[in-house]
Amino acid sequence: MADKNELLRQLPAINIILQRSELQSLVQDFGHREVTEAATEVVQIMRNRIRSFPEGKSVESEINLSLDFIVAQVVKRVREKTQPRLRRVVNATGIILHTNLGRAIISKKAIDRITEVAAGYSNLELDLSTGERGSRYAHVEGLISRITGAEDAMVVNNNAGAVLLVLNTLARDQEVVVSRGQLVEIGGSFRIPDVMNQSGATLVEVGATNKTHLNDYLRAINEHTALLLKVHTSNYRIVGFTSEVSAKDLVRLGKDKGIPVYEDLGSGVLVDFRKYGLAYEPTVQESVRLGVDIVSFSGDKLFGGPQAGIIVGRRDLIEKCKKNPLTRALRVDKFTFAALEATLRLYIDEEMAVREVPTLRMLTISYQELQRRAIDNAEKIKKIIGDFAEIKVEEGCSQVGGGALPEEDIPTPMVFIRPYKVSVNWLEEKLRSAPTPILARIQKDMLLVDYRTVLPEEEEIIIDTLKELFKIDDKKVDKEAWL
Ligand SMILES: *Cc1c(COP(=O)(O)O)cnc(C)c1O
Repeated sequence: MADKNELLRQLPAINIILQRSELQSLVQDFGHREVTEAATEVVQIMRNRIRSFPEGKSVESEINLSLDFIVAQVVKRVREKTQPRLRRVVNATGIILHTNLGRAIISKKAIDRITEVAAGYSNLELDLSTGERGSRYAHVEGLISRITGAEDAMVVNNNAGAVLLVLNTLARDQEVVVSRGQLVEIGGSFRIPDVMNQSGATLVEVGATNKTHLNDYLRAINEHTALLLKVHTSNYRIVGFTSEVSAKDLVRLGKDKGIPVYEDLGSGVLVDFRKYGLAYEPTVQESVRLGVDIVSFSGDKLFGGPQAGIIVGRRDLIEKCKKNPLTRALRVDKFTFAALEATLRLYIDEEMAVREVPTLRMLTISYQELQRRAIDNAEKIKKIIGDFAEIKVEEGCSQVGGGALPEEDIPTPMVFIRPYKVSVNWLEEKLRSAPTPILARIQKDMLLVDYRTVLPEEEEIIIDTLKELFKIDDKKVDKEAWL
C-alpha cells in the first residue's frame, strides 16, 4: 500500500496533462485558460481526496489515479463549463408563445436572412441606387404598408418601446384618455400607467373596470387632451356585465374632436383567425381600415417574427415619431431587420404565412395531424419506457400564451406519461436538465408531452433523451444520468 505522500507526488503535473491530444484540441476550441483551469481543478480535487482518505485503506483501489482518468475528467469539466448559458430547448409544453422560452420561433427564411446579413457587410443604411446614406427603416416600411394598408410605418426594439415612443412623441406634457378596464399589466413589469408616466404624458382614466361608454371619453376631453388610447387587453378578458367602446366609435369621436386615436394591439395579428377555427382577434388591417390614426404591435407574439415593436399609421404622426430622439435609443439592429423583412414577405400571401411562419403553423395544425404524431410517438416511447410508465394518448389543451387569445385553449391529442417507478417530478426535472433540455407540463401524476410546439425534427431528441435516461439495456432507471 503506497503512502499518501508518495501518491500525491505521483499526481501528474498540469503541463503533462495538457500535452494530451484530447486536451490540445479543446485548447483550440475553448482557449488555453479554460482547459488549464479545469486541469488544475481536477488535480486539486484528486489531491484533496487522497489527503482525506481514511488511514489504513488502499487509496489506489478506491480512486483511479491514472492519467487517462484524469484527462477524461478534465474533458468532462471543460465540456460542462463551456456549454452555452443560452441554449436551444425543446418546447413540449404546448404553450406556443412562451415568454420564458423566447416567444415566437422564426421561419426558416428569416433564419437564412439573419445568417446571410450577419456573415458580411450590408446596406443597412446605404441607398444602393444613389450610393448615399439611406434609412434602415426603408427595408421594411414598404412591406408593412402594403400588408397593413397603412400610410407609413416604423419599427422599434419592442412594443413596450413603441408605446413609450408614441406617447412621448404625441402626448408629452399633455393628457391621454384611456379606459380603466384597459390599464393592463403584461408579464415582465410592463404596465400602461407606468409607461405613461415615463413618457411624460398624463393618464386620464375613464369609465369603470368593467364598463366604459363613449360618453366617458367625451366628458374627459379638454384642451389638454392629445390622444385617445385604446389598449387591446390581450392577456385577459373581462367577462360578464361589460362594455368597451369599439375602435370605430372611438375613431368617430377622435375625428369629431380633432384628437388622434392610438391603439396598442399588443399581439399583432395579420390574418383572420376565424378562418382557421380559432377565436376572433382584431387584426392590424382592420384597425387601419377603421381609421385608427396610429397602431402598434409586437413582432414576436402572434406575428411570429423577431422581437420588435411595429408602429403603423398616419404619415404625419409616424414622421413625428421618427424625429423623436428616443427613436435612436429604441433602434433595431440589422439582424432584426433581416428577419422582419423575410417574415413580412411571407405575409404577402396569407397561405404562405400560415404554412411557413412557425407560430401560425402551430396554431393552425390539424387535429388529425397532431393525433397521428402523438400516436406515433407514444408507440416509440412505449417501446423504451413501457416497463416504467403508463403511456397513453389523450386529449389535453394547448395554449397560445404570450398574452394572446387568453381564453383560447386548443384541444390537442397529446402523450400522457404516468411513471410507476419514479416520481413525475423526477422525470420532469431530468428532462429539463438533459443535454438538450425538454420542457413539458405536469398534470397531477402525469407528464404531458404536447407535440403542437415540438418541431418534427425534435421528436427524435425526446426519444433519445428518454432512452438515455431509462437506459434500456440494463432495464433499470439510471438515476445518475447527467448528475
Ligand atoms: C405584449 C404587449 C406589450 C409589450 O410588447 P413587447 O413587444 O413585449 O414589448 C404592450 N402592450 C400590450 C397590449 C401587449 O400585449
